[in-house]
Amino acid sequence: MKKYENLKKVELHCHLDGSLDPVRVSKWTRKNVSEIIDKLRLQRQGDLNDYLKMFEYPISLLHNRQRLKEAAEVLCRDLKKDSVIYAEIRMDPLSHTKKDLNVKDVVEAVLEGINNSTLKAKLILCMKREREEAENKMVIDVAKKYLKKGVAAIDLSGSEGDYPTRCFKNLFLYAKEQGVPFVIHAGEAGTSDDINCAISFGASRIGHGVKAITSFEVMEKLKKYDIPLEICLTSNVHTGLYPKYSDHPIMRLVDSGVKVTINTDNRTISNTTLTDEYNLLNKYFGFTITDFVEMNRYAVKHAFLSDKEKEELLKQLEK
Ligand SMILES: [Zn+2]
Repeated sequence: MKKYENLKKVELHCHLDGSLDPVRVSKWTRKNVSEIIDKLRLQRQGDLNDYLKMFEYPISLLHNRQRLKEAAEVLCRDLKKDSVIYAEIRMDPLSHTKKDLNVKDVVEAVLEGINNSTLKAKLILCMKREREEAENKMVIDVAKKYLKKGVAAIDLSGSEGDYPTRCFKNLFLYAKEQGVPFVIHAGEAGTSDDINCAISFGASRIGHGVKAITSFEVMEKLKKYDIPLEICLTSNVHTGLYPKYSDHPIMRLVDSGVKVTINTDNRTISNTTLTDEYNLLNKYFGFTITDFVEMNRYAVKHAFLSDKEKEELLKQLEK
């Protein structure tokens, strides 16, 4: 058994399409598992845009209700096996509407899969930087409709370098008006300015946010407004942000007082689990079980849950 496998964990940043079970995909496609693994896993380190290309194949598979439902159910099962007690799973619903499904069909199928599992989990709907504003607004409208019915929030993903966060002010003003909470992928391939914008828009958490390390001012703001980063260590190495694990700024961020949570981003593309991430953090930075328990407490504190639900999860973390 791997170290930390039994430690109770919280996962706040995990994409459904990047976390498909190769065995289930092999059943869908009638291809052998090793061939599927070759197609689903990243083969070599590139930049964020190379990494984003890895989503084309899994997305091409998720075009009917049954598969979306199964994908969500199996992911919840796998997270539970990794001792995850609560997860916020994210997905880009519009990417699954190329054939017969509309956005609501997609969201309902995934929620059904989550509800069929025994894991406590909620859904975050991603807007994409590459899309028209009207399409992204549609995602906000759908999120609003399903808030408190399994959807927790919205997010913004996609090519940050090509579409800076500052261009999306109107979108997040609209989300605020509609009462839809949000997280934003920011300060990953972009700069600390993207994080600064995400903070000013009102993001509850920052997806990645590692570029905060380049700006004292941004780190101070994260601390002042108590906004945690969703750190995804392996993903940051795979997208070429850091050539080696030891180059990652997590330790310096933590030492500066910035709150971090630990996440996988894409379990299958990056061939990782939370247990693996904890082991890497232990190996390269010396983080211990005490640190991981603390980080999971932050994750619960900043999860999209009621106070009562948070209290219940905090009790479970202590066990
Ligand atoms: Zn992500």
